[in-house]
Amino acid sequence: MPEFSLAERYEAVRQRLRRAERLAARAEDTVSLLAVSKRQSASQIRALHALGQRDFGENYLQEAVAKQNELKDIDLSWHFIGPLQRNKTAEVAANFDWVHSVDRLVLAERLSNQRPKHMLPLNICLQVNLEGETSKSGCTPDALPELAHAVSQLPRLRLRGLMTLPAPGSVSAFAQLADSLKYLQGYYPHLDTLSMGMSADLEPAVAAGATWVRVGTAIFGHRN
Ligand SMILES: *Cc1c(COP(=O)(O)O)cnc(C)c1O
Repeated sequence: MPEFSLAERYEAVRQRLRRAERLAARAEDTVSLLAVSKRQSASQIRALHALGQRDFGENYLQEAVAKQNELKDIDLSWHFIGPLQRNKTAEVAANFDWVHSVDRLVLAERLSNQRPKHMLPLNICLQVNLEGETSKSGCTPDALPELAHAVSQLPRLRLRGLMTLPAPGSVSAFAQLADSLKYLQGYYPHLDTLSMGMSADLEPAVAAGATWVRVGTAIFGHRN
């Protein structure tokens, strides 16, 4: 297998995204690319930033904070996308711009209470566990309306939309998540975010309406 550089892999992913937008008859740049940098080094993040990438997704809090400290001199936007534990919410609230993995009200309440006053409200996606998912995280579709209502009331959060992490190949989850967002938009018209699609399945996610795709290995190569 030929070895590609970071710049080549990044360009290839951007081309896949632009092509998926065209095939779905969506306007250019309506899908944003979140570079998932878990288990990648701070220097890889710095190199990707130099190529124009600003948004990075991390799953593990201690690892993320260590890299954030090394990268304080550049302007990055950080997204927490991993399983969230209640004893970690204060650090997440203080160090991230987005959280994609909120699935319980208690987590949202803590994030809102702990969001530092000098920072903008924290952007939130509710993670939904649709049929066939491997991940145990995520609220059930039944619990979603009540959770969305409660989270939308919290002062230091800005509810933006929904996230899902389907089992490989279960692309029908993308249409289900898009339907759930449409339903919620009837009550909360400002919701604008569908976080879905990864290295292997960004095309069907874009076709179904993704606004963030979360891509790790296709950009950075295999994780350590
Ligand atoms: C690791 C991870 C990704 C990226 O997966 P790749 O297959 O490496 O693109 C996306 N979303 C979440 C929640 C992840 O944990």
